[in-house]
Amino acid sequence: MSLPYDAPVSQTLFDRASLVTPGGVNSPVRAFKAVGGTPRFMVSGTGPYLTDADGREYVDLVCSWGPMILGHAHPDVVGAVQEAVARGTSFGTPGEGEVALAEEIVARIEPVEQVRLVSSGTEATMSAIRLARGFTGRAKVIKFAGCYHGHVDALLAAAGSGLATFALPDTPGVTGAQAGDTIVLPYNDLDAVHAAFLAHPGEIACVITEASPGNMGVVPPGEGFNAGLKAACEQNGALYISDEVMTGFRTSKAGWYGVDGVQPDLMTFGKVMGGGFPAAAFGGRRDVMEHLAPVGPVYQAGTLSGNPVATAAGLAQLRLLDDAAYRKVDAVSLEIRTLVTEALTKEGVAHRLQNASNMFSVFFTPDEVRNYDDARTQESFRFTAFFHSMLSQGVYLPPSAFESWFVSTTHDAQAVERIAAALPAAARAAAEATA
Ligand code: PLP
Repeated sequence: MSLPYDAPVSQTLFDRASLVTPGGVNSPVRAFKAVGGTPRFMVSGTGPYLTDADGREYVDLVCSWGPMILGHAHPDVVGAVQEAVARGTSFGTPGEGEVALAEEIVARIEPVEQVRLVSSGTEATMSAIRLARGFTGRAKVIKFAGCYHGHVDALLAAAGSGLATFALPDTPGVTGAQAGDTIVLPYNDLDAVHAAFLAHPGEIACVITEASPGNMGVVPPGEGFNAGLKAACEQNGALYISDEVMTGFRTSKAGWYGVDGVQPDLMTFGKVMGGGFPAAAFGGRRDVMEHLAPVGPVYQAGTLSGNPVATAAGLAQLRLLDDAAYRKVDAVSLEIRTLVTEALTKEGVAHRLQNASNMFSVFFTPDEVRNYDDARTQESFRFTAFFHSMLSQGVYLPPSAFESWFVSTTHDAQAVERIAAALPAAARAAAEATA
């Protein structure tokens, strides 16, 4: 596929980067491998816009993969960070900022009685799994195909053949032993969960699931699925871990818990709660959390955990996220979803637009997507054409057909107009695309 235009300065930076960093990027999806072309190196962001190294401006529908729910460089967040930086950037001691951030999380999310701050979503899920194993004294973990929980060894596992078989490592570097206690099941399939508990009585420490998955594209849990997971865990003495790294403080004031009300034993958070800085957390039932060091025997630690600059950014962002802010993000999400569907329908492109509150994605298939196998039936080549057309017209989408799109409170009428103007040509490109 010939790409509509080039980006010479980004290309030069990418060439430089590729000499000193594997693939030129510090996180694989940034390399545009799924869509081809030159990754855009961004130099600044304001509100809903990003500017790249070639001086081109884009409406940003990635929002740093979720965190920037108030848009880029929100003055209150920037101000809080500047104040914090001026007081010193890290002390390696407790500080009031971390207490305030923990209090804010506990106040918003009822099942979280205690919370421990960490620096990435990966750390949060890794620690939650360790805690669940330490608490229950059991080894095995159930996860779902298509759910991503960061690059935790035990969770980088793909389903073996057949239901409820043990997982195979998904990547070199993860050993069979590390993946061997992981059971990978199809998403939205409670029968498979019941079968796994039956096959391994007294062995399963926890079920971990994305509260509403966004890492295979947006695939919300079916009616009763999360409640069914919770019940199955309760009946079998396992913990129910809801990974809200993506949905937390985004899909509502209390994340996906605020939408479905199912009470997890443990929850994980990241992205929005860090205000664009590396801050994440795991938390939940007090009796479980008190198994963590220094109260209990399960070890977990971090030099930069609860960093004063990151906590100041996160707290400033959360304090601005009131009901009105969520109404705004939900409304603009609906507006954009409607425009995308209209444009694709007009060009006769079979597609399915799925959302979980304001998170959404487009699958290039006519059928409902309920799990990872469904997601993989889509015609991804149409997304590639759609993506490059939008990019060339100044709209920055996630560079993969299997990702959620994200909007912010700053996506105003002008930003939406720019998206609307780009959609007809992009829909045509998707219609004309060939595999
Ligand atoms: N859990 C979920 C649901 C995620 O979406 C992600 C990242 O996208 C993670 C965990 C890992 O978070 P991080 O990239 O901060 O390590």
